[in-house]
Amino acid sequence: MKKPVIAIDGFSSTGKSSISKMIAKKLALIHLDTGALYRGVTWFALQNCLNGDGSINTDQLFSSFDQIELEFKNDDGELVLFLNHIDISKAIRTNEVSDNVSFIAKQKEVRDFLLESQRSLAEKGGIIMDGRDIGTVVLPNADYKFFLTASIDERTKRRYMELLSLGIEANEQKVKENLMIRDKIDSEREIAPLKQAEDAIVIDNTNIDKQETIERILSYIKDF
Ligand code: C5P
Repeated sequence: MKKPVIAIDGFSSTGKSSISKMIAKKLALIHLDTGALYRGVTWFALQNCLNGDGSINTDQLFSSFDQIELEFKNDDGELVLFLNHIDISKAIRTNEVSDNVSFIAKQKEVRDFLLESQRSLAEKGGIIMDGRDIGTVVLPNADYKFFLTASIDERTKRRYMELLSLGIEANEQKVKENLMIRDKIDSEREIAPLKQAEDAIVIDNTNIDKQETIERILSYIKDF
C-alpha cells in the first residue's frame, strides 16, 4: 500500500517540526522540515553574501546557488542539516538567522531554488513535510493537510524555552517581536504566502500539548 503524503503548515512555534518528526516515527515516514532549508540558505547568505553595511546582497546570493548543497542526514532518528558537508543544524537556530530568514524566504529566486527538491522528495510518497506553503504550493495534492495555529503568547513561551534548551541566549520580548514580524512577512509576501489551504484541517493547539496535537492529527489518518 502506498504510504501517505502529509502536509503540515502553520505559524512559527506551533510545534510543526517536532510534531511532524514524532508522526514520521510512528508511521515510518520520512520527515522534511522545510523551514530548515530556508534557514540554511539564510545562514549561507550571512556567511558569504553581505554588503559593506552588513545587509544581505541578494544578487550575490542568487548567483551563488550552485555553491549551496543542502542535505539532511539521519543521525539516530534525528535529521541533521548539512551545508556543503558541514553540520549547520545548530547554527540555523540562532537569532541572527531567525531575524533574516523571512526576508530571504520571500525572494522568488530562493523559493524556486528550493521548490523542486522538496517536490521530488515527495514523489514516492511516505513523507511528512512541514512549512508554510506545503499544502498550498509545494504539495497541493497531499493526502492530508493540516494547519497549526496557537496564540502569540503561547508560541513565544515555546520558542523561548526551545532557545534556552539549545543554549542560545534569548529575551522573551525579542522572541515575541521576531515571531510577529515573521508572521507578518510570511503571510503578506507575494509568492507562496503562509495561508491555510482550503482543504486543510485547522488545529489550534494553544491549550493542548504536543501529544494531544499528534493524537488529533493521527485520528484523521486512515488506511495506512
Ligand atoms: O519553520 P521555521 O520557523 O524554522 O521557518 C523559518 C522561516 O522559513 C519562516 O519564518 C518562513 O519565512 C520560511 N519558510 C517558508 N516556507 C516554508 C518553510 C519556512 O517561507 N515552507
